[in-house]
Amino acid sequence: RQHMARGLPKQKPIAGVKQVIVVASGKGGVGKSTTAVNLALGLMANDQTKSVGLLDADVYGPSIPKLMNLKGNPELTNKNLMRPLINFGIPCMSIGFLVEEMTPIVWRGLMVMSAIEKLIRQVDWGNLDYLVIDMPPGTGDVQLSITQNLPIAGAIIVSTPQDIALLDARRGAEMFRKVKVPVLGLVQNMSVFHCPKCNHQTHIFGTDGAKKLAETLGVELLGDIPLHLNIRKTSDTGQPVVVSSPESPEAEAYRRVAAAV
Ligand code: ADP
Repeated sequence: RQHMARGLPKQKPIAGVKQVIVVASGKGGVGKSTTAVNLALGLMANDQTKSVGLLDADVYGPSIPKLMNLKGNPELTNKNLMRPLINFGIPCMSIGFLVEEMTPIVWRGLMVMSAIEKLIRQVDWGNLDYLVIDMPPGTGDVQLSITQNLPIAGAIIVSTPQDIALLDARRGAEMFRKVKVPVLGLVQNMSVFHCPKCNHQTHIFGTDGAKKLAETLGVELLGDIPLHLNIRKTSDTGQPVVVSSPESPEAEAYRRVAAAV
């Protein structure tokens, strides 16, 4: 196990990719994919000389096609590699490009990992400074294999300030530590709701939970993203907030997360 944890024999780099950054969460629905997308765009916004790609490893609930407003099947190169679909300057790969939107995907154990392997390695990524991976939620076998099979520069963990989400986020952080992947920090999402009508601020999922967890774990709090209608709307329409409202405080919050990478 120790040997596996170091992962040295199997950690084959991805051709053309300099750094892999994974975005993880202990559970679903906390804003992991939204963060992954806006982080990728934020990395580019912060330094336009950098090339950034996005891989949807959340094969159970692929959301990158919708978030990045991309549809269709990847073409094959003459080396039989899939060409990523591109929007906002970001090459993306997702299982969602390979199956119909409404088709339920019933995975059997090892199929998941072999599908992810293909989405990672049978792709013509070109030259990327960063590949951002939107991980499946949780800390199961798939997450573990990804961390063991790839050289990962760092992990970002997304959590709401709520107790239950934090507990899962802590497990996530511990998984990365075990496999020696540096945890770059936590992103607290949906922390506060500013009522647009009365300006009252409500901490719907509690106050500062992720901030306290970051302190306990000895990792940085990379960002604090409010629960904001603009984030939900821009995500649903495939116009991520970092590109559609670059002047907004929400976009600024995501760019700050990107600046910490
Ligand atoms: P996960 O990847 O963790 O399952 P998603 O990124 O898909 O979560 O987000 C779940 C839902 O919450 C989506 O509808 C998304 O638009 C919305 N959402 C995420 N973050 C925010 C936020 N800060 N404010 C408002 N809505 C958000």
